[in-house]
Amino acid sequence: MTVGTKPVDMTLGIVGGGQLGRMMALAGAPLGVHCVVLDPSAEACARHVARHIQAPFDDVDAVQSLADQVSVATFEFENVPAESLARLADHLPAFPPAQALAISSDRWYEKSLFHELGIDLPPVAVVDSQADLDQAVSELGLPAVVKTRTLGYDGKGQKVMRTAADAVGAWEALGGVPCVLEGFVEFDSEVSCIGARGRDGELAFYDLIENQHRDGILDRSKPVRAHPLQAMAEDFTGRVMRELDYVGVMAFEFFRVGDRLMANEIAPRVHNSGHWTIEGARTSQFENHVRAVCGLPLGSTETREQVVMLNVYGRHPDVRGLLAIPGVSWHDYAKSARPGRKIGHVTVQAETGAQLAEREAAAARCLGNERGY
Ligand code: AMP
Repeated sequence: MTVGTKPVDMTLGIVGGGQLGRMMALAGAPLGVHCVVLDPSAEACARHVARHIQAPFDDVDAVQSLADQVSVATFEFENVPAESLARLADHLPAFPPAQALAISSDRWYEKSLFHELGIDLPPVAVVDSQADLDQAVSELGLPAVVKTRTLGYDGKGQKVMRTAADAVGAWEALGGVPCVLEGFVEFDSEVSCIGARGRDGELAFYDLIENQHRDGILDRSKPVRAHPLQAMAEDFTGRVMRELDYVGVMAFEFFRVGDRLMANEIAPRVHNSGHWTIEGARTSQFENHVRAVCGLPLGSTETREQVVMLNVYGRHPDVRGLLAIPGVSWHDYAKSARPGRKIGHVTVQAETGAQLAEREAAAARCLGNERGY
């Protein structure tokens, strides 16, 4: 055995320098993993905690420069230009694999994969024209949701149709781009399963997370210990990870209908619904992502206490008020506020459910919005 050698001496390149890149860089630092982010914005919020290459994601020289400066690469979002991805993967280990990004960035490929792997999902049809949409509506019935195949997020790029009148011109209204039509699910709740897979195939899962959205944006996430659907969620998430030979953290979002889980979508990256893991789990999703892509052993995903995460968007909260509440942590993304923009999140921890509810209510008052959860 060698004593005294530095076990980790890695530099991690991250395509994207938003809050996810920022939190990855923060998680990497104690492990001795230093990060370089590629992001076109001068305001990229990871720039405070990582070296920043300011250039477009498809800038060949900048991508090459990133490849030259790091020993392993990863991504903060799924819509990385395929050529940039290929350039990185030609020069160094890059995770998650390109196939995972290609599949998760196209709703039709994604849903086809779920179907192939025997994962329950709402009825779905591909829609390339208004005539296709009309046909699909007549087959699937209403209500239904039409979604663009690519580039949709936070409820953008989709439209719920409840009556035949809603379908008129709906395809054009979404930009006349390739879409899918999905049956509307009358779900009991929305849950996400966050898993990590190491380079050696080791798998670890966090407690299943119950999520609430407001105006199509994730608002609140709470892990549930011993959730009755934990095993099913892990089974479905593990099937996708193994099939894609996935490395890193992945989130799988589901609709819960009674004791069934129906697939909504996967995100091949750390996920907003897992931000509570920074304080609330033994190893955060960010650290486990860094560990996985760097080929290090995964850390325990166990939940520590009662915990809930509240997103902060649109305007800055009363930070002094928040910090005065025991068990509350505030994460500032160093972004300017504008309507609908996520600028931070709050983690609330407590020893009991009652104490958590009390602290959460106090925190919500500091965010200045009414939450009826
Ligand atoms: P998505 O971008 O596909 O995750 O959709 C954003 C949100 O819209 C989801 O979190 C759900 O609240 C809602 N939604 C999307 N698809 C459906 C569906 N097929 N049935 C019911 N609600 C949906």
